[in-house]
Amino acid sequence: MPSHNRYNARELFETPERDWPCHDHEEFILVFDDGAELITNTYRTQVSRKLWLPHEEYKQLGIYKRHHIGNGPLSNGKIQDVQSAIVEDVHIEYGERGYNREELWRAGYYSTNRLYDDSIVEYSEYIRGSSSFDFSDLYEYPPIKEARDTAIREATKIAIEKAYDTVKLVLERDPKLARNVIISDIRAGLLKMEQLLQILVVRGFNTDIDSHVYNKPILGNYFAGIHDPGEAIMESTLAAKAIIFTGAPLEQTEYGNRKMQFTSAQVDLLIMNDCGSRVMSDILITKGRFKGLDGLNYLDKQSGKFVPLRDSDTHLIDTVQSFRTPFNCAWRHHNCVCRTCYGLLAYNVPYGANIGHIASTMTQSEISQQVLKVKHSEASAASDPINISEEERPYILPGAEPNVIRLNPRVEKKGIKLLLRSGARDGVINGSKLPILRRADVKDGMSAARFSQFRDVTFEIPSESKQPVRYHVSVSRGARTAYLTEQFLKFFVNGNFKIHDDGFYHISLENWNFDNPVFELPNRHGSMKDFAAEVEGMIRSTRDSSNRHLGRLKQLAAYDDPTEALLDLYETIAVKVPVHMTHVAIVMTSMMVSKDRFGDFRIPPLGEPTRFAKYDHVISGRSMGPFFAYQGGRKLLETIESYLVVDRPQHLLDPLLSPESTC
Ligand SMILES: [Zn+2]
Repeated sequence: MPSHNRYNARELFETPERDWPCHDHEEFILVFDDGAELITNTYRTQVSRKLWLPHEEYKQLGIYKRHHIGNGPLSNGKIQDVQSAIVEDVHIEYGERGYNREELWRAGYYSTNRLYDDSIVEYSEYIRGSSSFDFSDLYEYPPIKEARDTAIREATKIAIEKAYDTVKLVLERDPKLARNVIISDIRAGLLKMEQLLQILVVRGFNTDIDSHVYNKPILGNYFAGIHDPGEAIMESTLAAKAIIFTGAPLEQTEYGNRKMQFTSAQVDLLIMNDCGSRVMSDILITKGRFKGLDGLNYLDKQSGKFVPLRDSDTHLIDTVQSFRTPFNCAWRHHNCVCRTCYGLLAYNVPYGANIGHIASTMTQSEISQQVLKVKHSEASAASDPINISEEERPYILPGAEPNVIRLNPRVEKKGIKLLLRSGARDGVINGSKLPILRRADVKDGMSAARFSQFRDVTFEIPSESKQPVRYHVSVSRGARTAYLTEQFLKFFVNGNFKIHDDGFYHISLENWNFDNPVFELPNRHGSMKDFAAEVEGMIRSTRDSSNRHLGRLKQLAAYDDPTEALLDLYETIAVKVPVHMTHVAIVMTSMMVSKDRFGDFRIPPLGEPTRFAKYDHVISGRSMGPFFAYQGGRKLLETIESYLVVDRPQHLLDPLLSPESTC
């Protein structure tokens, strides 16, 4: 093996490219300012150098290995990683006050432009195209063909998933395919794997416009075409869905975002100083939370100082640390958050920016993106498993199939009764059709879904001294409402249960076989639209829910402990879209009001007991600026009660309503 030449990154940086000592295709050892080395080549170093515009301005800034694009695929993510490493290193080497952040960002922006503008000219001879032959080669490649044929022969969910996994591995790893253009694109992260799988394997399970998962998979694919008329019709609903989703669902989601922005903007400025708050949130750092906590300050027990949590602190996973959080900032009642409570993200916020607006867009924009991208995010649809919370588990448990619920056997031992509402209510039929159910109707293969529908059911627990205690347990998930299974209907007709005066069927469960499922939910793929509505409902606390109701989603207003609310809200959002705790915490701060002072909707000072208010109260009890931008502003002016709220905080939108006022 020929020995490599050694070049110094700093020297290459300072020399015009035409005078570089290395030739065009040379592989060499590049030595960085800190002595680190990397075996790389001329082109990769030229491309990296385009990103080194900040180094021209900031001469003290070293050139490090992490400022180089390295040897892997050059994705957008890689370019961003390099740029953020450069920004961070300027911050470290120049200190907070030693550089102008906005100028540095501009240099970063120009360097991206330079990279894209120059590269397409300088490397034009390397630009390749792809043709259907490239796809054909992959389509006929024996391991892929074999996996596809098996999936088509078996036509089950498991077989399709298995074929996807096999083909995915081939596409990602198989060295024999390395020269295929499609393969280099997929390995560079430029193509979406799910889409390529739909082209090469089978289209898989698809959903109807109401998110119902079709029972049969589409066994055609996008390369050979979908020729079966039934499959073509199932496939076409995806396009229909995309059209529907760009209409009302997107409008609703976007309107939801706007509503959130009105209240969130109450948290206005970031103060680049430390408020000195000693109120902290004890958070167990789990793997799932780690990314969302990046840069937040926690109390380092050894030094007694606040230090930011960083990517490299993986050893802190599974420990509890005390974090500074925006809602515990001592300046929150000034509608401000300090740098220490905000975390390292503070250095990414432009001077004077409204951090509440940033927080709500950062939490919400990705969700609307996903609503819009419905067509692309549904690879092969699977029914979402039913989540059963800790509080619900004493009563209900997941069944053998992902869409059924059974009862916890402990229910029977305690003599607990199942109460089913007999009348229709709020658009749900409940048990109103059960009286027409005849023994003859209940037979194998019947359509059980026709006879009942429940959003929640009640369990009655006997109590010796007083009235029995009732617990309501939700058996619906999002838009999916449950119905009684065939087995339970059989039990029901044989039991001759009657409606009591309270309007409920009281069902004692002595002879019930607890292994059988009681409730079944329609097979549905959770849509982003439902998800957006869920998040919005949680933050705005739109749904009334009594404490006894053990529904899955607790509303923000029902939380006493902000940290608990933060973690729940974060986890609700983060399952589907990436979000940062700082932003979630700021959205929450904007909903905080005093627990004691009635009719005062300002964000209370630290130390005062707080609660989370409902959105409608917050927006009508604060400044009129956002309310007039919201809806029905005039009505509020005509309501006498609104004149009782005299302490109203300023809002960013006030000058729009009253241009004379100074803000
Ligand atoms: Zn603070």
